[in-house]
Amino acid sequence: MIALLAFVTPRVAGAQSGATVVSIQNARFQLTRTDNVNGVLAVAVRDPGLGNLLRSIGAAIQWHPGESYIVVTAPDRRVITLTLGDSHINVGGVLQGLPFVPYTDGGEAFVPFDAVARALYLAPSHEANEQIELQPLLSGLEVVRDGQRTLAILHGGAALRFRRVLDRPDRFEIALPGFASRLDPVQRIGAPGLESLRITQRHTAWESATVVAFYAGRDSTHAILPGPSTSELVIAFAPRGVSLEGPLPAARAARIPLRPAVAPVALGNAAPPLSSPVPLPTAVSRATPTALPAIPEPLDSAAAAATPSPPAASVLPAAPPPAAHVTGYQIQPVDDGIRLTLKVSGTATYEWHQLRDNRFYVDVHNALLDLAPEDKGLDQNIVAVRTVRVHQFQKTPEPIVRVALDLGADDRVTVTPGAGTLVLFAPGAPVVGVRIGSGRLGPTFADDSTADGALAESGLTVAGAAAAAQTQPLAAGTNPKLIVLDPGHGGSDPGAQNPAAGLIEKNLTLEIAKHLRTILEGEGWQVVMTRDSDKDVGYAFDSDKVELQSRADVANTRGARMFVSIHINSFTSSVLNGTTTYYYKPQDLALANSVDRALSGLPTKDDGIRKANFYVLHHTTMPSILVEVAFLSNPDDARLLQSPAFIQEAAQDIGKGIDSYAGSNSGGSSVLTAPQSAGDVGDAQEDGSKK
Ligand SMILES: [Zn+2]
Repeated sequence: MIALLAFVTPRVAGAQSGATVVSIQNARFQLTRTDNVNGVLAVAVRDPGLGNLLRSIGAAIQWHPGESYIVVTAPDRRVITLTLGDSHINVGGVLQGLPFVPYTDGGEAFVPFDAVARALYLAPSHEANEQIELQPLLSGLEVVRDGQRTLAILHGGAALRFRRVLDRPDRFEIALPGFASRLDPVQRIGAPGLESLRITQRHTAWESATVVAFYAGRDSTHAILPGPSTSELVIAFAPRGVSLEGPLPAARAARIPLRPAVAPVALGNAAPPLSSPVPLPTAVSRATPTALPAIPEPLDSAAAAATPSPPAASVLPAAPPPAAHVTGYQIQPVDDGIRLTLKVSGTATYEWHQLRDNRFYVDVHNALLDLAPEDKGLDQNIVAVRTVRVHQFQKTPEPIVRVALDLGADDRVTVTPGAGTLVLFAPGAPVVGVRIGSGRLGPTFADDSTADGALAESGLTVAGAAAAAQTQPLAAGTNPKLIVLDPGHGGSDPGAQNPAAGLIEKNLTLEIAKHLRTILEGEGWQVVMTRDSDKDVGYAFDSDKVELQSRADVANTRGARMFVSIHINSFTSSVLNGTTTYYYKPQDLALANSVDRALSGLPTKDDGIRKANFYVLHHTTMPSILVEVAFLSNPDDARLLQSPAFIQEAAQDIGKGIDSYAGSNSGGSSVLTAPQSAGDVGDAQEDGSKK
């Protein structure tokens, strides 16, 4: 109790501090619920500006009143946690100290802003009073050997937009504008197709960038492959003649560890307390660029002359090479989207931007357009893209060709350079009129955390979005006997794990689902499983959004009556335990209540029902729930999960809940309306969630 009281009011200054403006990559966010603890900026976890800032880089932060832990999810899926009353931040298993202990005040939890930023690989620099600039860091670079290929995977604190600086078989250089790096500047690799690499900072009159140079060797090829997220960039290298294409490998075992600048501290049960925050370099010093260690320069001086000179001596880049030409383009419809191939002759660099209002553009720098400008509306069947505009954006001082797409929905456009081409791929988003985020909330499961925020930004109400959705054919109820079961994770995605207890989420969810299928089929239901073996439902290493949409599609396209997703929970602290049933849509609520009642007979703690914007709940058209059966990170729950009897019992109880829900909904009825109209899309989770 004393410990609890200790963190209630440690601050010295009141909440009278004004708004703080945070800028990152040309975007600005205003923090309004801030505080000052001994000169250190504190921000409320639920500050709207903080939420938008994190969303903009694909991260999320979550805390509910009454809970002691605050969960931050990084774009690369690391989970970062802070605990009220505890002076540590747990960054993916590494404990770091905090300048003050997170506390609550006026129903809000406050955390140290800089510590959260640093954990997300964003280096804060306090430019002036109440103005902070966050510079994203190149946070990691791992090299993976995959057969004859070598994959270099860069991780960033924000979307890794890059420019090609030099592209030759033996040497490949990319610039990451706005990024700083704290990685070892020289790394010897010695892998097939990749000998070494060098990381430097480059500062010009208009930008500061991190430049990564890959020394590939004389007879190598390389290609940029689609990464698992926009904050990860994958470059494949191989000896000439070896194919660079192919999915990313599943095994994390073959990775060649590169030396991080800060050695991680393993988190054990009795981790020694760390007294002070691990310091990160703040903004890169613009006056003194890092000295470059000697690396043999390539022999091909003609090509070297065509690129900007090395950074140490120059402030302005060398004279530009002759302009490239955009000679044509081609649009192929692909599913609901398009593949646009731009033909480029000569050497050019490009950068692309995806804006919040469904606009996307790519600028090809130092390039002239050989065609008349075009502004094409596309066929209405192409959902992903409404119009394509190709024009000479500017002629001086540098000629730039811009290709702009007006997207029909928040599609994830990929940009892939080839030999003389630049390919834009907009695969088509299945939901029209609603922006879909790809953030992640909660410790175990991908979460469409940005949908509501995006709706609010675009001025639509949730009711408006629901109305828009109804103009789409709704498949709900077309097969009143069909239930789709979704065993969470699988294949390339193991889900949560407790190796000491021998528990892997993807296996447990499959076991429970298989038992449940047997039970339901015995009662006359038709059952389809999103997977019935250890595999991905989509393709291995799809983005979460694509993988989860594949699962929702199984139910949507078949017109299932219900969708039941099964997961096993996990948390960085072993204290949390219990069984939770999640719902999102109003029509999910009755099914969630019914299944929760049936599950209350389990020997686990009954955590009731909770509303959560999980992707599969949001994007299925029928009543859907997601059951987190127990915590494999909790010793008592883990013991239960090891028991086949418990697995069977969990399946039986979910089955009972489904039956009693179906019974009270007059089975076979084609109209399945929400019994309770839950208008609580906003703040009512707390009341609605606890029984
Ligand atoms: Zn899961």
